[in-house]
Amino acid sequence: MIELNDVHKSFGHNEVLKGITASVQKGEVVCIIGPSGSGKSTILRCINALESYDRGDISVEGLKVDRDAPSIVKVRTQVSMVFQRFNLFPHRTVLENVVEGPLFVKKEPRAEVLDRGRTLLAQVGLAEKADAHPPQLSGGQQQRVAIARALAMQPKAILFDEPTSALDPELVGDVLGVMRKLADDGMTMVVVTHEMGFARDVADRVLFIDGGVIVEQGPAKALLNQPQHPRTQDFLRRVL
Ligand code: ADP
Ligand code: MG
Repeated sequence: MIELNDVHKSFGHNEVLKGITASVQKGEVVCIIGPSGSGKSTILRCINALESYDRGDISVEGLKVDRDAPSIVKVRTQVSMVFQRFNLFPHRTVLENVVEGPLFVKKEPRAEVLDRGRTLLAQVGLAEKADAHPPQLSGGQQQRVAIARALAMQPKAILFDEPTSALDPELVGDVLGVMRKLADDGMTMVVVTHEMGFARDVADRVLFIDGGVIVEQGPAKALLNQPQHPRTQDFLRRVL
């Protein structure tokens, strides 16, 4: 579903992606781990066309991710993103936040979208918060709203960029629980995370990236339990 082939990306003289080649199959959960500044967010942002890339190819369901091509609108609606900071509109209700994309970007019928929004809020355990405003919610609840908002676009895949890193520890579990359920339901997910327990239990594959290259990748349990590369071993020693 998602293919990256020798992707290079620089910011000025700083080459942050130095030839990334990876693929994500339909229904697969792939976790990306690695030190701060290694290029993890940049990979997600390139897949979602929030950033351009300089060299190589990225495609989603065979459609090239090219910020200048007309097809980019389609790619953007097919791949949702959930950020570390939830980026909800504080002055709109929770339900309004969830239905924003389908209503105004995809221009879907209002009644249908509102229905879907309520169903999704129930799915993330927040049915009773539909009319609340984001600042009234805990960080964990806001992140679950952000996940419902991502799902409201009926995407083919969701990219998560450290979705629990900004949360108080006691709120992390609920968000990971929602993500785990999504994975069980067959959603295609790419998750940048420092939650090694989640990666081990939920991911099909893990990519370890350092300095803009994939140093090691493999089945989640194999990579996390028996990392082969010294840099992976060193990283895991420090985070586990
Ligand atoms: P990670 O998510 O792994 O922490 P990032 O992908 O955010 O890493 O960043 C990789 C490198 O790219 C870092 O050195 C960062 O400073 C740099 N970088 C990221 N975004 C920008 C930007 N918009 N402009 C300039 N440099 C950037
Ligand atoms: Mg990042």
